[in-house]
Amino acid sequence: MIVLDLEWNRGYDKKPLNEILQIGAVRVERPGGPIVDVFNACIRPTVHKKFDLGARKLPDLSMFKNSRTRFPAAAEAFRAWCGEDRVFAGWGGGDVEALNENCKYWGLPPFEAERFFDFQLAFAHAVGTGQQIALWRAAEYCGLPDVFDYHSAVNDAMYTAVLGGWLTQEDLDWRPEPAPPRRHRAALRLSKLSFPRQDRQKVGPVPTPEEALDARSSRTLACPVCGRRLGVARWHFVVPKAGVPQQFYGVFTCPEHGRFLCRMTLTRRRDGQWQGRRSVPSITPGLAQEYAAALDGGVHVCKSRGHRRKRRPACLERGTGEG
Ligand SMILES: [Zn+2]
Repeated sequence: MIVLDLEWNRGYDKKPLNEILQIGAVRVERPGGPIVDVFNACIRPTVHKKFDLGARKLPDLSMFKNSRTRFPAAAEAFRAWCGEDRVFAGWGGGDVEALNENCKYWGLPPFEAERFFDFQLAFAHAVGTGQQIALWRAAEYCGLPDVFDYHSAVNDAMYTAVLGGWLTQEDLDWRPEPAPPRRHRAALRLSKLSFPRQDRQKVGPVPTPEEALDARSSRTLACPVCGRRLGVARWHFVVPKAGVPQQFYGVFTCPEHGRFLCRMTLTRRRDGQWQGRRSVPSITPGLAQEYAAALDGGVHVCKSRGHRRKRRPACLERGTGEG
């Protein structure tokens, strides 16, 4: 069995590739068995010009930038190292897909997994929670010594492999019930009235993402039909693999015209400050889907005015789902 972990960068451009920066893997004879071999490749990024927030926080980013290995050479070395082994495992479910997405980009044949074990899912079953548990938290829970940096693919693969020792066959075979599509109905409860194009609102710059979300200028809106002053109380967002989410969705309700959606995009400026752009777009099927996905993700409840406290960003900087 090969326990795999990747680090990647999505960048900010239109090329839809999670560009792999590191392939880390260890070989075990069985889940939880001793580690018998290690693979590590640091890969020079060549696709995206910029690093996303998650990639910028990677402890080994300079090693990737200075690496002489490009993805095709790393992938072929990894393929040779895997040999006949076709059973993979990882913390979270997306690593083989991400690997193959990169293979496709470079015109290489895919990796064919005979079976893939999601140790994160199995671990959630083992400890009796329906939630995704960050790798470091699972390691802490099991009392593993905290000696290697997380978010280095080879270290994360090693931690994942060791955590395999806590999993039974039942944990490994467990699959959650598919979630009912209740949220999509919520998305459809939005007003179907058409309205003129709404002006965008700039928010900030402010020192933290929370301040942008809590700002009066982001939370007060006008009904796009009658102009009545209304407010947003919470923002929903899709939880990213790492870093701070960039798209937030809020709903405001006009007693006469119904529920409208607004979208806030946060960006970090070069000076480290955060800037928001808020819009009230017309509802399209795509937008309703984005909103439904955000409803299943995280939520930021706005702090009421008059209670301004200084606080470190907590709810947005959560641990990552994967390694
Ligand atoms: Zn109205």
